[in-house]
Amino acid sequence: MNQTMKYSLAILLALTIVAGCSNKAEVTPTTSPTEKESSKPATGTATPSPATSPAASAKTTPKPTSAATAAPTSSQAPPKSGAVQVIAKPESVTVLVNKQNSLPSSYEPTDLVYPDIPFVFAEKIEKRKMRSTAAGAIEKLFAGAEKDNIHLSGVSAYRSFATQKSVFQRYVLKDGEEKAKTYSAVPGTSEHETGLAIDVTGSDGKCAAEDCFGGTKEANWLEKHAAEYGFIIRYPKGKADITGYQYEPWHIRYVGVDVAKEIAAKKVTMEEYYNAVPVAK
Ligand SMILES: [Zn+2]
Repeated sequence: MNQTMKYSLAILLALTIVAGCSNKAEVTPTTSPTEKESSKPATGTATPSPATSPAASAKTTPKPTSAATAAPTSSQAPPKSGAVQVIAKPESVTVLVNKQNSLPSSYEPTDLVYPDIPFVFAEKIEKRKMRSTAAGAIEKLFAGAEKDNIHLSGVSAYRSFATQKSVFQRYVLKDGEEKAKTYSAVPGTSEHETGLAIDVTGSDGKCAAEDCFGGTKEANWLEKHAAEYGFIIRYPKGKADITGYQYEPWHIRYVGVDVAKEIAAKKVTMEEYYNAVPVAK
């Protein structure tokens, strides 16, 4: 009786720790194989662990500095995990868009332009566009890369809500909604809809938005220099339990130089930077 209670407590405690810091190693020693069996009911009742207040568990993540005052209001008081909320300030350059924070369906950036950079395709179409500040920054980033003998090409930048909707619908028809959600963003939740994100690749066009881009000299250059131009690697390696996405070394997101440098220096994700609820799966 006492033992069971003790174990349940230990497990609850462990889950609370894990919910915020994603350091799974901390938990392992507290659960022995025998405990696992007896702990099942406890684990069941403790599953809403991701709902644990991120503020309480984010011991190592400092509050955003003044540079980040444009932080989305919606992410500062997140509801419980799993609930999707509509972003209040979609036009903010530091807006947090993920599976839990959706852009309004009516949102369309008003300052989209065609950045003067090469793409892997020739057409002057929607996915070549970016918001003007991000477009200026990506031009500088490409020029900086050229100086280091790194030749980049754009793969895909802006995507409207309508485009994302049709893409997603197509996948839903093919695989069903649950499966489609695992590899395609629900309309409103793709960062490409902000006009601040772009997928890039080497100028040979190989590995465009594919895993093999990781470890290339272009990917390494981005990892090292993107922040100097105001961009972050939005979905870093090993952070899928927080961002909701596997490592995407090709997907860079404009947040402004100050915030980008801070995020890069701290080696955190945008979710951690804002103390937002981790995005499971
Ligand atoms: Zn992308």
